[in-house]
Amino acid sequence: MVKLISVSFTVLVLTISAVKAQIPIVIANYPPINTVPDVKSAQVQAWLKELDLSGAPAIAPLTAPAGSPPACAANNACTWTCDNCPADDVTTCAVPNTWGLTFDDGPSTATPKLLDFLKTQKLAATFFLIGSNVIQHPDTVKRELAEGHHLASHTWSHSALTTLTNEQIVAEMKWTEKAVMDATGLRLKYMRPPYGDINNRVRFVLKKMGYIAVDWTGDEFDTNDWRIGTNNFTQAAAVSTFTKSLDAYVAGPNKATSGFYCLEHDVSDKTVTAALELVPLGVKRSINFASVSGCQSDAQPYQLGGTAPIPPADPVVGAGGTKPVGAGSSGSGTGNSPSGSNGPTVIKNSGASHLTAAGVFSAVAVAAAGALFA
Ligand SMILES: [Zn+2]
Repeated sequence: MVKLISVSFTVLVLTISAVKAQIPIVIANYPPINTVPDVKSAQVQAWLKELDLSGAPAIAPLTAPAGSPPACAANNACTWTCDNCPADDVTTCAVPNTWGLTFDDGPSTATPKLLDFLKTQKLAATFFLIGSNVIQHPDTVKRELAEGHHLASHTWSHSALTTLTNEQIVAEMKWTEKAVMDATGLRLKYMRPPYGDINNRVRFVLKKMGYIAVDWTGDEFDTNDWRIGTNNFTQAAAVSTFTKSLDAYVAGPNKATSGFYCLEHDVSDKTVTAALELVPLGVKRSINFASVSGCQSDAQPYQLGGTAPIPPADPVVGAGGTKPVGAGSSGSGTGNSPSGSNGPTVIKNSGASHLTAAGVFSAVAVAAAGALFA
């Protein structure tokens, strides 16, 4: 296990092909923000025509107050949060001694501060993006990509998916997918259900669209950053609780066999400020960090991702650079096939899941752990 991070300066250059040209984001061209998109729209109807949902489990949508997951019912159909039933969701980072670094609910005005911090720490994370926020902050999404982070979906309106119809789930996912594709040219592949609210019907619909669900590794890895400032809950309390979780992980048997996914958010100054104190707790304990793509050894962490090598002439951005993703090279594919080369470049160094000392790349995600740790 220990030797997996002993490779020094193995530089990996991976490519993720953009599969579709970027489109300027015009908010009026998307559904109303923070609202479940209309399934009767021509766009959603077109998406539905491409999907065969006829085999979906006959599980009725549950009910819940707005902004909340539904209460647990007697038969939840393998609901992760109620039945501790993950089915085949990803729940642990596959790399031992590794913190699967994820941030949900962004992008927000607080996200750039987090990106600045992650850059100084040379860490890559997965951002589970809310589509409604993507169209409001597309440049932040592009920056995330350009600085080596991995993009994933957190639905359009952050509604509890078990409360939605199959068609509404499609609308939530596809509009978010479109927003990110318009901004970056990439089609998302991983998602995290809001509130961790997922059952077998939701899973069926997600899989039909090619999505892999990623939960977090149990309650002890919920940093509770979202509670800070409510009911007298403080950042100090969140740090104290999470410190115990990390110490238990470091002292326990799981460290040798798998990593963990945490629950953190880049939704507000409070949660980002908390991250700036929480992440160093892992660094101090010699825990490595990786995005979901790094944790899952997925060198193609987007749908329709190509594998063609980057042309040597494709420039890699130096430290501090903010080259627009895919600039001068956006793929011309149809959205149905990889478009060859010209995707962002990924460069990955050795140890942990840190980016190279150069710091900033026109990059996507992390390298395949197998190659990285060989
Ligand atoms: Zn969320």
